[in-house]
Order: sequence, then structure tokens, then C-alpha cells
Amino acid sequence: MPGSETRAQIRRIRLKRPRIIEIPGMKDFPELVQGYTTRFGGVSQAPYESLNLNFFREDDPSQVMENFRLLSEELGVSLEDMVLSKQVHSSRILRVYDTHRGMGIVRERSYDPVDGLTTDIPGIMLVTYYADCVPLYFYDPVRKSICLSHSGWKGTLLDIAGESVKTMETHYRSRPEDIRVSIGPHIRVCCFEVGGDVAELFFEKWHWSEGLAKKSRGDKWFLDLEGIIRRNLLTHGIRERNIYGCQICTKCEHDVFFSHRGSGGNTGTGAALLMMRSTV
Ligand SMILES: [Zn+2]
Repeated sequence: MPGSETRAQIRRIRLKRPRIIEIPGMKDFPELVQGYTTRFGGVSQAPYESLNLNFFREDDPSQVMENFRLLSEELGVSLEDMVLSKQVHSSRILRVYDTHRGMGIVRERSYDPVDGLTTDIPGIMLVTYYADCVPLYFYDPVRKSICLSHSGWKGTLLDIAGESVKTMETHYRSRPEDIRVSIGPHIRVCCFEVGGDVAELFFEKWHWSEGLAKKSRGDKWFLDLEGIIRRNLLTHGIRERNIYGCQICTKCEHDVFFSHRGSGGNTGTGAALLMMRSTV
């Protein structure tokens, strides 16, 4: 069950119906444009209502584009400056350069599928998309670099969180102790039930992960992906005080956020957004 603070936050979101919510841990930095999108304020029809950002569903692509346009207007960030991942539950992370601007939205991608995006260039907005999986936001305020990664159960098992840290160390000489990490809205342990075969993969790889799972009916388990990701981030040198969560379960709040499991698999997707502002 979410705490009273989270319940109050959800009530405010239902009332005000914003297109984007801010991310704890990232919103402390005024030099960042950051957020996670809700279902509100778009033009797509059911079951994609309304701010669907997925071009690969049966939603009308012109409506998805209109949703992106509405976001772009609200953020004051041009579609030409956004870069969209192409997610396949891998741990591949793309280093984003100026040449990637607009790819996945207004231009064809030149890159193979990637589940993470990283850059040190201000004015490029990284965009990854979700309907229950875990969005991970990384910011190094010292080396001025960002990373945004999609961590479903497969990505979590592949430790895309750790890959993100390593990628920032390699490309930008980031030091893990400087990196701030935020874990965005996702399907939480209350709702994330998996079969024994999936749970076993985690327990075999990280014996401690059994302590972060709860037995469900039959051979099923409830998995705490955030708990597992947090523990892995610590082993990669991220400081505990630099990891932020937001306590929102997308399946519990499937009227507010797109949720694959909360809608029987027939729904749209939201997006995580992260950009360093250009200094003028
Ligand atoms: Zn839940």
C-alpha cells in the first residue's frame, strides 16, 4: 500500500490531470528538464487514451505525433531535439550525439535497438517509453552527463542499472559517488507477480534477491524490482543517499499511468524524459 504522502500526490494528479509529473531527486536540479508522462492531456482514443507515445501499437500514428507535439509545446523542447530509444529488454545503451537529434520521432533511427540513452550534450532530450517497466534516471552534476534506462525484469536481470553507471564512467569519466539516480513510477512489489521460473532466474543470479520477493499463490512470487535495482546500484558505487524512488505503482494507478498489466496488455505507453538545459 502506498503511504499517505503518495496517496495525496495521486489525488492531486487525478484532480489536476497534468501531462507530466516531476521526478523526485531529479527535480532538485534546475538545469534539468525531467519528468514522466501520465495518460492525461493527449488526443488518442481508447484503449490508448489519451497521451499515448507509442508508434508501434495500432493507434493512429498521426495522433501519437500530435501527442508528442503537445508534449514538445508544454516542455518548450523541439521534437527535432528529442531522441527516442527502441526497446527490446536488452542492456544496450546508446551514446547520443548531435547527429541523433530527432531520431525515433521525426527522423528514422540510425541505431540498432537500445534500452538506454546517455549524453553529455545539453539541449538534447532523451526519451524512453513505459507501461509498467522501471524508468531509471541518472545525472552526474559534476561531469554534466545524463542517462535514461529502461529496466523491465529482463533489463533488471541484465543489470542495465549497472551498465548505465559503467557507461557514464567510460564515456564521461563520471565517478559513481557523484551520480544521482531516480527510480520512476513502475509496477511495484504489490502487483508485480511472476512465475517461479522467472523468480528462480533472479534467486540464482543474486541469492539475496529472495529476501526482496514475497511468495504468492502456487509457485508464483511478487518481485521487488526497485529493491533489486537499489542493491545493484550500491554494488556499482552509487551512494545510498543519492538514490531516489517515487513509490507510485503504475498498475495500482492504471487510470493515471499506462499499465500493461493494469489493462490486460491492451494499452498505450508513457515516457520518461530527461535533458540538460542549454546555457544561454
Ligand atoms: Zn500495485
